Amino acid sequence: MSSCTPTIKRGSRAASPEFARLAAQRRLCREEVAKLLSASQAAEIEAVRAEAERVLLARCGNEVYLRGLVEVSNACARDCHYCGIRKSLTAIPRYTLTADEIVACAQLCAEAGYGSLVLQSGERSDKAFIDLVCTAVRRIRRETRTAVQPEGLGVTLCIGQQSREIYKRLFDAGAHRYLLRIETSNPKLFAAIHPPEQSFQSRVECLGLLREIGYQVGTGVMVGLPGQSIQDLADDILFFRDHDVDMIGMGPYIPHPDTPLGREPCADVAERVRLALVMVAAARLVLRDVNIASTTALQALDPVGREKGLRFGANVIMPQVTPADVRRHYQLYPGKPCLEESAGECQTCLAMRIESAGRKVGYNHWGDSAHARRRLDRRMP
Ligand code: SF4
Repeated sequence: MSSCTPTIKRGSRAASPEFARLAAQRRLCREEVAKLLSASQAAEIEAVRAEAERVLLARCGNEVYLRGLVEVSNACARDCHYCGIRKSLTAIPRYTLTADEIVACAQLCAEAGYGSLVLQSGERSDKAFIDLVCTAVRRIRRETRTAVQPEGLGVTLCIGQQSREIYKRLFDAGAHRYLLRIETSNPKLFAAIHPPEQSFQSRVECLGLLREIGYQVGTGVMVGLPGQSIQDLADDILFFRDHDVDMIGMGPYIPHPDTPLGREPCADVAERVRLALVMVAAARLVLRDVNIASTTALQALDPVGREKGLRFGANVIMPQVTPADVRRHYQLYPGKPCLEESAGECQTCLAMRIESAGRKVGYNHWGDSAHARRRLDRRMP
């Protein structure tokens, strides 16, 4: 096991009967979700975790899907108050990978058997950038076809709010999943952490457009934001359910000292990690068969945070494949893990981390969520 791979402590712990009963309920109201999120004693947390793990294994199986993460560009037209690559941080060297570089990253993913990749960037709608992403997606789908994956790698995009026309172009180029995080479902809190030109409503409308076009749609939130309540987090879970999302990516909020929000007080690290883990579990209990990522933000705050995320109901991990020379310039928050490791080292380390959580890697397939497969089958004529 590599030096960057701490082991996760496992063992049987007593579970609180009260929280076990609540977690096993098939339908949870807002107050009940909030109660689950309040689990703070070891026995309460274990009851929520164990039921979430049981639901995950029953509904989605034991496999963990890997999405190679390619950070295509750190240039961004937005100025979110919490983000380490917001446009007003002018000292950061900005980069954009070429189509050849993006495809080379995709080849690494295909060789490693990852099955899918995520193209992520700051929010840009300029023609040159959208043309670049369309070209890269088309080439990835064509040039990563292998005997074990005849359709090529699955492609998830995470490039922010765009027009319907742009979403459609990217879909037609071959992208089939899109992650657009709402960051919080509380419109007032959203307004407090974004500049006035970014509206909660327009982000929600984008989720609708993506779904209408035919993408598998993902969203997510930050957990432990200044001013965020347990009720807000319960509402986030219900937002995911009510918008019938296929995948969720959420992690603990990590303040960036160079941003306006980063200077405001927030809960301590242990509390933000606890909250992020019970949010993963509550999302699994309420949404059942969606894909949920165990995010790098969890690992940034806890050396075994991603393994814990898997044990609380997550089933997706995103290994870093961005070229090492630009990776340090894509830091949405400080303390991002895997800054120096090569893609090969990340691959070995992750496989061991996944096994240490008692799970196995789902190699060489797209790993669509059972929820998306069910939803899209229903739409077939
Ligand atoms: S969160 Fe996204 S859209 Fe906002 S500033 Fe950062 S990269 Fe840009």
